Amino acid sequence: MKILLVEDNPDQRGLLERYIRVLQHDVTTCVNAEMALETCQKAFYSLIILDLELKNTDAVTLCRQIRSMSRQESIILVIHGSDSSSTRLEAAIEGGADDYLSQPVNEKLLQIHLTMIARRLNHFTQLKQAEKALRESETRYRELADSITDVFFALDRDFTITYWNKASENLTGIFVRDAVGKKSLYDAFPEVKGSKAEETYLDVLNIRQPKSFLQTYQLKGKPAFFEFSVYPSRDGFSVFAKDITYHKQMEEALKKSWDYLENLNNSLGDAIFTVKMPDQIIDYVNSIVETIFGYTTEECIGKSTHVFFQNKKGYLHFAMKLREAIKEQKEILRTEHVLKRKDGELFTAEITTTFLQENGELGRVISIVRDITERKQMELALEQERTSLAQKVEERTTELSAMNAELARASRLKDEFLANMSHELRTPLNAILGYAKILKKTKNLSQLHIEGLDTIRSSGEHLLNLINDILDLSKIEAGRLELHPREFQLPEFLRQIAGIIRIQAEQKGIRFFYEGDPDLPVRVLADEKRLREILFNLLDNAVKFTEKGSVTFKVLDCRLQTCPERSRRVADVEDPKSQIFQPVSGQAQILKSQIQFQVKDTGIGIAPEKLKEIFLPFQQVAQQRYSIEGTGLGLAISQHLVNMMGGELTVNSTVAEGSIFSFELTLPEIHGVFSQTQSQALEIIGYKGEQRKILIVDDIQENRAFLTNMLLPLGFEIVEAENGQVCLETAVIAKPDVILLDLLMPVLDGFETAKQIRRIPEIYNTAIIAISASVFEETRIQSLQAGCNDFLSKPLEEEKLLECLQTRLNLEWVYHQDSQEKAGARIHSSTALGHDVSLPQEDAEILRKFAIHGNITRILERLEKIEALGDQFSPLVTELRKFARGFEINNIIDYLEKLEVDYER
Ligand code: ADP
Repeated sequence: MKILLVEDNPDQRGLLERYIRVLQHDVTTCVNAEMALETCQKAFYSLIILDLELKNTDAVTLCRQIRSMSRQESIILVIHGSDSSSTRLEAAIEGGADDYLSQPVNEKLLQIHLTMIARRLNHFTQLKQAEKALRESETRYRELADSITDVFFALDRDFTITYWNKASENLTGIFVRDAVGKKSLYDAFPEVKGSKAEETYLDVLNIRQPKSFLQTYQLKGKPAFFEFSVYPSRDGFSVFAKDITYHKQMEEALKKSWDYLENLNNSLGDAIFTVKMPDQIIDYVNSIVETIFGYTTEECIGKSTHVFFQNKKGYLHFAMKLREAIKEQKEILRTEHVLKRKDGELFTAEITTTFLQENGELGRVISIVRDITERKQMELALEQERTSLAQKVEERTTELSAMNAELARASRLKDEFLANMSHELRTPLNAILGYAKILKKTKNLSQLHIEGLDTIRSSGEHLLNLINDILDLSKIEAGRLELHPREFQLPEFLRQIAGIIRIQAEQKGIRFFYEGDPDLPVRVLADEKRLREILFNLLDNAVKFTEKGSVTFKVLDCRLQTCPERSRRVADVEDPKSQIFQPVSGQAQILKSQIQFQVKDTGIGIAPEKLKEIFLPFQQVAQQRYSIEGTGLGLAISQHLVNMMGGELTVNSTVAEGSIFSFELTLPEIHGVFSQTQSQALEIIGYKGEQRKILIVDDIQENRAFLTNMLLPLGFEIVEAENGQVCLETAVIAKPDVILLDLLMPVLDGFETAKQIRRIPEIYNTAIIAISASVFEETRIQSLQAGCNDFLSKPLEEEKLLECLQTRLNLEWVYHQDSQEKAGARIHSSTALGHDVSLPQEDAEILRKFAIHGNITRILERLEKIEALGDQFSPLVTELRKFARGFEINNIIDYLEKLEVDYER
């Protein structure tokens, strides 16, 4: 023990010090109060022995001072003098002294006291340690209780809070310092009062068994669910409250999912069975089972599925399919079976089965059963419908193809009729018009006769124009009219047209202006013949419907008008039209120009309501007196042609003021050097080798004559036959090298003739070239099937016929060696007509001869040949053709005579 001895009497101090040391305690001595206080401050002494009789010191005060400064554990022992009063001892005890010794202190007594004090100190230390351990353990438990997220509190039997953890603070907002011992359960949880929860607490108090209840709170504005567990304790209750909001939500979500699934199961309209394996008993069915099978869900659960099958065989079949699917590890199995309802009714069902693995084994088999009775019936009905529809389609197709064939036949008949009619009408018209002209030259005709002959002539001409236009229109409508673009010189072409119209206008006493854009492209690519036809029609009309004033023909390059520098662009080199040109120099380029053609007159004009009508066939909206001169087809044809060329014909007109007809075309413009394949053709004048014999078979004499005229000059021997029968007889005798065979003939037609030729040994391998007015593909095929080698359509193109003859007869042609030179000597110039037109003399003579004979067909044929010689003849041919079609024989002769006059000059 560490002992401090406070004693001023040296003898007494020495004696006590000795005793203490003898008793093996550690001792420090002090002689007065100051020293004692100082020493006490520096170190801890288990025992302080203090003499109450210290001189100059109030020992009681010192005792008090020491007690106040020393720790609780120090024991203060006062030595009490025999002469000192007991009051003083009492004051010392009061001031903090723990024990006393009376003077004189003997060693034994001191030893007893020191032993007792040591024991007391030891006990005190143990107590202190136990207390500390308890405090620590309590702190640990508190920390533990605070660290758990669950609410935990304790109550005594009066419901006063005796323990309160952090989570309780969080839930109620009441701090531990305000709760423990100060608040009751009702203060912290006012909702308990009078509720089921209060009953639970009271139950626990009575029956001493744990109980729980659920309570909802609003935490941070959201509902929170707590599960309170109340346990009985020695002093009252221990209460745990667990936040089960998340569980609740999960539970809710799960319930919703389940409800959803259940609804889905029931709304699908299909019955669902789950069969637990390996027991093979149903452990779930949805409510649709009742609708489909008539069994309640309870009746199904725990049963085997075989009761739903029609018979055992059906069930075994299904079971076998299931086994196979499981073995093959299929995910899904779809089968169809006949099933049985509770009332015995059978129905067809589709069963879709899937397999559910549980713990690595087949846990459940889920089957969805769909009643497909209706579907089956519909499928059957559909199949019947489909079959009947297919039958109907077939019938309709047959009908349609019959109708199509009929239509095609009708259209062919129409074409043939038109072709025949035009031919048949032209021949008598030849005579009518020719004789009308000839008779008019008779002297001394009366006025009545002259007028009559004029009427015959103008009516005949009208009829002829009508025939030609109808033929053109029917071709356009049948889509058989094709454009043949070729290169020609645009300004020259326009000047020639203008030249011809100028004559007509001047004859009528009206002025004519031609305004050609000086920047027009020189060479363009277009169907010259058809463009001429359009322009002539518009210009003819303008002159025809204008009595005074003027007609203006304007041609503009639109791009130049709007943007000169970007006016022309390089055309697509893939342009199919450009392919007929073979560039012979690298600089050749095709550009495109936008050309506007405009014909303006100051004539009678057209009423606004009639503007649309004039483009319809046979529409003539002017007064009667003009109608006789036209057919009403010109504008309809012109509009079609402009459309085919990519433009649109428009009209602007005011009655009594005049009209403007205009259209725009995009014309490929040719730059650089091109050689036009067509113009390269050399003139064939004969062939090398032995003479060949050609049999021409045609019932129309003119046609035979045309071919004869064409082929005779080339050195062929010509034989003619007017029908198939004559052809066969002639061929056997004449043995021709080739037969040119018309297909439509009386007595024996071309098809039958060809067939028979192929059967007659003497002539069976003679080459046959069919020539037909039909443009139909089937006619061509039919003729080839009948035995013809080639098929050519009318109007016959000379080049094509010669090409065929060359192939069939293996001919080597002889060409005109110096055509330019020879032609130059024979050419007539006709500058007197207002334009540069030239014609070979020979052609001029032939034309005049045909004109004198009134043979329009031959004139037209010859003109076609002349046209093929080159572009320079086009205006002349157009003019002459117009006269020919109008059966204006005198005009033809006059025209040709003018050419003669020019030549002589
Ligand atoms: P037609 O042979 O009668 O001229 P078109 O088809 O060329 O037939 O013209 C149809 C009708 O349009 C004419 O009959 C006439 O009434 C009217 N028409 C055409 N061009 C003109 C014009 N320049 N001025 C007035 N009317 C015109």
